[in-house]
Amino acid sequence: MEAFTVMAPLAGWVTALTDVPDAVFAQRLLGDGLAIDPTGDTLHAPCDATIVSIHAGRHAIALRTGIGAELLIHLGIDTVALGGAGITPLVAAGASVRSGNPLLRFDLDALVQQARAVVTPIIMTDPERFVVTPIAQGLVQPGDPLFRIMVIEGTQRDAPAAEGALMRRTARVALDHGIHARPAARLAAAVRGLSAQVTLIHGQRRAAASSPIAMLSLGAAHGTELMIEAQGADAAAALDAVARILADDRPEAPAAVRTPTVAVAEGPGLRGVAAAPGLAVGRAVWLRSQEIVVPETGASVAAETMLLNDALTRVGADMTAAAAGIGGDVIAAQQALLDDPALIDAARAQIADGRSAAFAYRSVLRAQAATLAETGDARIAERGEDLRDLEGRVLRALLGEEAAGLAFAPGTILLAHELLPSQVAALDPAVVAGIALVAGGPTSHASILAAGLGVPMAVAFGPALTTVAEGANLVLDADRGMLDVDPPMERMAAATTRIAARQATEAAARAQGDAPCHTADGTRIEIFANLGSIADARAAADEGAEGCGLLRTEFLFLERTEPPSTEQQAADYQGIADALGDKPLIVRLLDVGGDKPAPYLAIAPEENPALGLRGIRVALARPDILDAQLRAILAVKPAGQCRIMVPMVASVAELDAVIAAVERLRDELGIATPVAVGVMVETPAAAMTADLLAERAAFLSIGTNDLTQYTLAMDRGNAAVAAGVDGLHPAVLRLIAATCDGARRHGTPVGVCGGLAADPLAVPILIGLGVDELSVPPARIVATKAQVATLSQRACAAFARTMLACETAAAVRTAAAAFVQGELA
Ligand code: PEP
Ligand code: MG
Repeated sequence: MEAFTVMAPLAGWVTALTDVPDAVFAQRLLGDGLAIDPTGDTLHAPCDATIVSIHAGRHAIALRTGIGAELLIHLGIDTVALGGAGITPLVAAGASVRSGNPLLRFDLDALVQQARAVVTPIIMTDPERFVVTPIAQGLVQPGDPLFRIMVIEGTQRDAPAAEGALMRRTARVALDHGIHARPAARLAAAVRGLSAQVTLIHGQRRAAASSPIAMLSLGAAHGTELMIEAQGADAAAALDAVARILADDRPEAPAAVRTPTVAVAEGPGLRGVAAAPGLAVGRAVWLRSQEIVVPETGASVAAETMLLNDALTRVGADMTAAAAGIGGDVIAAQQALLDDPALIDAARAQIADGRSAAFAYRSVLRAQAATLAETGDARIAERGEDLRDLEGRVLRALLGEEAAGLAFAPGTILLAHELLPSQVAALDPAVVAGIALVAGGPTSHASILAAGLGVPMAVAFGPALTTVAEGANLVLDADRGMLDVDPPMERMAAATTRIAARQATEAAARAQGDAPCHTADGTRIEIFANLGSIADARAAADEGAEGCGLLRTEFLFLERTEPPSTEQQAADYQGIADALGDKPLIVRLLDVGGDKPAPYLAIAPEENPALGLRGIRVALARPDILDAQLRAILAVKPAGQCRIMVPMVASVAELDAVIAAVERLRDELGIATPVAVGVMVETPAAAMTADLLAERAAFLSIGTNDLTQYTLAMDRGNAAVAAGVDGLHPAVLRLIAATCDGARRHGTPVGVCGGLAADPLAVPILIGLGVDELSVPPARIVATKAQVATLSQRACAAFARTMLACETAAAVRTAAAAFVQGELA
């Protein structure tokens, strides 16, 4: 069977035609295919083809492929009304193009602002002869395989000759925007049931009325005189039907809005992925990013080198100041990139070739980001976000531009395709009530910063989000990753009441300071903080954290060419311990390798890094690194304040090896105080052998981020599966239950330090399953304490057991939302 593959003509999100907000495409009136919601600004040829036509409005382009199939690419919905503004054709009708050749360039920001939607259908318009099989889903780049077209065996193109007199009639096209996609579909539908063959004629061009794409090629604008020919038994009726449609001079209504089915979840609104919890009510404000314009050629090598050096110094100073605040670890990671000698040398080399400092720096950082993207590892590629951010900082310093003014009216819910960490850090949480993104990942730096600021954020809404109009009323439920668009007044009012109730309980919790937290029926639940820096430790202490449940020590190790010395580590750990006062500090041993690269470790490239040398496997392979870190932890005063936590454990032997190392060093250093060694439960193996681990471990702490990815076999950093990576999946809950049951047999306490601990819908379930400690980002301490104080452990226990029998994470979330509201009522 003859077949060929149609490549993605655009970068963007693949969308089913049924989810395109225009019935003509959604009902496949023009043919079958897929749509892409663009993230790029150039439309490329999806295969070798001839350009049949480019609509006068420049938004629709028709192509004929080698095997005779015709394709229509329709840039956005209702874009005909824009009259071609912001769209530049790069080819002309009649041209032969090769797959990947650029066809159109467009101003994506302008289209997003002005069109009903930018989602772009790619349609094969002859379903009688060809069949389409979709290939792609999720995010695609131009040139990625999109769908396959196969010839249906035994079909023939030419219709049998019609019999009877040929009838003719002229007609003026009264249609608002001429014959574009939607009227073409209506015309084709009108003649489909008739036996007559109908042809529209414009000058030399002829088009069968049964073929929408042929009619688009007529270039029949509003006011064009056409000849209509019909031959067959019902020719007169056919002429009438066609003329009636052409004479329709009513202003065109916008395409009927359909809520995309993929975006509909339980409850009203669009569905994304929860990234920073909280509830917000406000108005939609779209943030459009603007490319900074840079000159390619520099003044002189000396002058441009000086400019670059000066800009790097100024940005470095700004970052040092910012690193002391919330999200300091994110900024510290970017600062390491800023100081990277390889990047600076490469930029200087380009300056020596005559480039301007800004041009040189930008091209070096972009090349680096492309290299990261090529690894194919989403978490490594996510670091490209930091490079883009750094590029903006340095270019603004070079060109003397202020950071993009991020001033918004109070009650703004910010909508964007993606946000850079520095853009999130620059937001004022007093005015930005929430954030919803088309793309983005729940574990990205932007999400971590939003959680740190206490700004609710949901991500990965996909193309559906672009249908939200500027100024629309919104309720963002970032606990569930839901966005309610223009809800009725009562839903707005109910959300406002819930926010006020939460604020009241949080104020009460804050007033308790660091007093021990209990459920309403008296069960003690410790509320600890997850930390990555001294700044985090100070913030956590201010928020009333009862200790630190997870110190991510990677921040000391990443982006370096040599490991930090024992002394450096000891000084940092001591600083964090001091910031916490006398409260416990659980230090996680280095968790690098795999998705968290550390160049000096020289781990050979791995085909599947998430399942390779990472966590405790690295430490056991490099006893020198383990030894130095344990010595640093044991040096912290007072002895015993630090507890040691072992990451990525998959077997009892790994725990035994670390306990033996700790005991050896205690002996050597003469430390009499016992040091608690606990285990992170991040692998299904650890959860299923929790009883064996709990026999030896001082505590268990469930890392739900990794436990979820390993249980569901879904990469936690991969946007394509982000919607499925939900720790409330019943499979994950059963492993959490198994962990608690195993630990209880030995009286070993269990904490949760993964993202689930900060998820208000998860908290009652975790407490119900028997978790004793929740470790959350500093910004969630007060809210978590407030929630725990409203819960009854007994009610949670009964509720949690029923959740283990649910079939899906969505079902658990729906039930938990009802339970939480009941508890809070
Ligand atoms: C986890 O996996 O849940 C966890 C807390 O560790 P990290 O997110 O640092 O991998
Ligand atoms: Mg982990």
